[in-house]
Amino acid sequence: MGFRDECGVVGVIMSPSRPPSDYPARLAYFALHSLQHRGQEGAGIVVAEPTAGADGAGALRDMKGLGLVAEVFTDRELMRTSAVAAVGHVRYSTAGEKNVRNVQPFTATVRGEQVAIAHNGNLTNANALKRELETRGTIFSTSSDTEVILHLMAQSVYGGSGDTQARLTDALGHVEGAYALCVLTLRELFAVRDPRGFRPLVLGRIASGEPAWMVASESCALDMVGAEVVREVEPGELIAIDRVTGSLRSLFPFPRQQRKACIFEHIYFSRANSDVFGRSVYMSRYRFGELLARSSPIPGGADYVLPVPDSGVAAALGFSAASGIPFQMGIMRSQYVGRTFIQPTQEIRDAGVKLKLSPVRCMIADKRVVVVDDSVVRGTTSRKIVRLLRGAGAKEVHLRIACPPIIGSCYYGVDTPNREELISFRLPADQQVCEWIGADSLGFLSLEAMQEFLGDEADDFCYGCFTGKYPVLPVD
Ligand code: SF4
Repeated sequence: MGFRDECGVVGVIMSPSRPPSDYPARLAYFALHSLQHRGQEGAGIVVAEPTAGADGAGALRDMKGLGLVAEVFTDRELMRTSAVAAVGHVRYSTAGEKNVRNVQPFTATVRGEQVAIAHNGNLTNANALKRELETRGTIFSTSSDTEVILHLMAQSVYGGSGDTQARLTDALGHVEGAYALCVLTLRELFAVRDPRGFRPLVLGRIASGEPAWMVASESCALDMVGAEVVREVEPGELIAIDRVTGSLRSLFPFPRQQRKACIFEHIYFSRANSDVFGRSVYMSRYRFGELLARSSPIPGGADYVLPVPDSGVAAALGFSAASGIPFQMGIMRSQYVGRTFIQPTQEIRDAGVKLKLSPVRCMIADKRVVVVDDSVVRGTTSRKIVRLLRGAGAKEVHLRIACPPIIGSCYYGVDTPNREELISFRLPADQQVCEWIGADSLGFLSLEAMQEFLGDEADDFCYGCFTGKYPVLPVD
């Protein structure tokens, strides 16, 4: 626990003959609801209304605010009958401060065409591009890296009026790093992934009436609204869906690169019921747990395997199955407390762990327990958990972590602490980390075991925060 989720995006475009009950904004709303784990700071939806506006020219309308999806939108807004398409976003501030102006999707009129953009990821040369744009007179109204893309589109010399695809392609040719984008105009929906494919994006079809399309960060968002998963948007692919003709075009406008999908999506970020990068997230976590049990057995055995809820559950089940140690929910999580990293100071964060996690004494007192967690970042949460369990009478507490030690920050859309705050960077030997946390023993899943599990696809994943070797070096 401790890496901050990034963002989630969704795009919906309806066919002209859609059933009147299929409101695109409402579909986007439910999809965003299922992507809430990817960002809890703010949410927004922009709808395309081709027949709205005083002059009948159509309009993109936005609704957004700080807070959870359920708090930001109203039924009346979501059920606008003239809306034919929508893009939506849930946000954490991986780049840019916490401010409603930074809540996406962003809208702008680019050479006479209204455009909305929703972005998951982080551009590694955004500051350099921003400085360059500012010297040309560009005024930025947010502190988000995503706005850079809109300004590059506005200044592109490619494409006539209405040719958003040409301008978008040109703009993306200048940016580096990670992006999974949904871009909406009054007529088209674009879905794009960067050539490395750091962040996930999946294409789906809404199974009612004529084909209506949907894209989302994770398949759980499609499941939520009953849309069928068609396939992933490929790394480096730009998909353009035209609402009027119903056509879907797939292009690969950028030079091909080796895929470098974020392995952390499988370790922690994505929901366990999603398929991400063509794999079940749940099964990855379960297998990580099994492999961990084989590579880091408990000296002398243990009475129970306890997951750190919720993201450690699948790995703990795998650990239990492979080790033969019974699984128990010995730590309960309060559903009513925000994630610990939302609070800014260390003191409040420490108190937050106690608010969130409570030991089940009868499973712990006089027992030797194995605690399985998805990852260790600063180490403070693990230390608190070990203290919590010892306080509940545990005889021994063994900590097992279903990923390798984290020694570096992320530059691709995940809000990570500075390297100096990472426990495995500060204390390179696992034994030192174990002592600091106060556990009886500590074991990490090795990078080699993880890569062996990924098999032929091992080279297709990014492991930058485990190795310090980054697929795209940050310019900023
Ligand atoms: Fe994911 Fe880590 Fe790579 Fe960032 S550095 S993209 S968190 S694997």
